Amino acid sequence: MIIIMKPEATAQQIDDLCDNLESRGMTVQRNSGVDCTVLGVIGDVGSLDPHDFLTHEGVERVMPVSEPFKKANRKFHPQDSVIDCKGVPVGGRKLVLFAGPCSVENSEQITDTALKVRASGADILRGGAYKPRTSPYSFQGLKLHGLELLEEASSITGMPICTEIMSPKLVEEFDRRVDVIQVGARNMQNFDLLSELGKTRKPILLKRGMSATVYDWLLSAEYIMAAGNPNVILCERGIRTFENYTRNTLDLSVIPAIKRLSHLPVIVDPSHATGLSWMVERMSLAAIAAGADGLLVEVHNDPPHALSDGAQSLTPDQFAQLVGKIHGMAPIVERTL
Ligand code: PEP
Ligand code: MN
Repeated sequence: MIIIMKPEATAQQIDDLCDNLESRGMTVQRNSGVDCTVLGVIGDVGSLDPHDFLTHEGVERVMPVSEPFKKANRKFHPQDSVIDCKGVPVGGRKLVLFAGPCSVENSEQITDTALKVRASGADILRGGAYKPRTSPYSFQGLKLHGLELLEEASSITGMPICTEIMSPKLVEEFDRRVDVIQVGARNMQNFDLLSELGKTRKPILLKRGMSATVYDWLLSAEYIMAAGNPNVILCERGIRTFENYTRNTLDLSVIPAIKRLSHLPVIVDPSHATGLSWMVERMSLAAIAAGADGLLVEVHNDPPHALSDGAQSLTPDQFAQLVGKIHGMAPIVERTL
């Protein structure tokens, strides 16, 4: 971190600031120029908030020179991380496909959908048992019974399961029963939940919060990693903007940004990003062209009767068609399916 002092900063103000920084374990290099003094701060600067130093008398400007996240940072881990999701690698050359309904509704629905998406080439079955619904009057999910139905579908299809957690109280239960634990957009900054998940070694699918910046998102990944769990997969699912034609705005530029800043895999959820099933194919292909490591797609065996997110859900046939298109595209971006 670099701190530029005002030209009129007194020697006392500079000394006080240096003492303050040194008392926090930093080493300070002072460079006194003709106009002003510049302080180079070395050490664990991630523990400092640059804004706090603007309140010190005599400070003109504070410039962070390194990112505030470490374990998620590509600088300290140049090679891509590949996360093993019960035998399915996420983040390597092979694209990963998470597919399944928004909510687990009943045994027939989840198992039938699972068999159909598996037949098309999906790797991991997704389905919500605990649903974070905007309205308390909307279907809230089958909860523990939903987990049982996912386990049943998994034992029939052999597919690993991915489902969303909402409470830190359920981490142990999910750790025992779920293969990939999803943290939804609404809980991306539920820091107690993230830290608790960090105590497991389970792959965590961390969706981007609807108004989270790239740094906010990577710092949330850092919470999980700092607590001891390196197995984080990022998922872009659209952000809130002024545009309301689509449910959210898919931010594809975040993929190269994440790839530059971090070694963590990043996948794209075109379903929540658009809210419109007819856009899912195009946005999926665009995501793969932009460098995504895979997709999370909502697929329902009867979208008009879905208890949540039917309008954005593909039918199994539409999913099969999408996978066919991805097969055509994968070699162009040097990926396999
Ligand atoms: C979901 O995956 O069904 C979901 C609720 O996603 P998000 O957290 O991205 O809204
Ligand atoms: Mn959904």
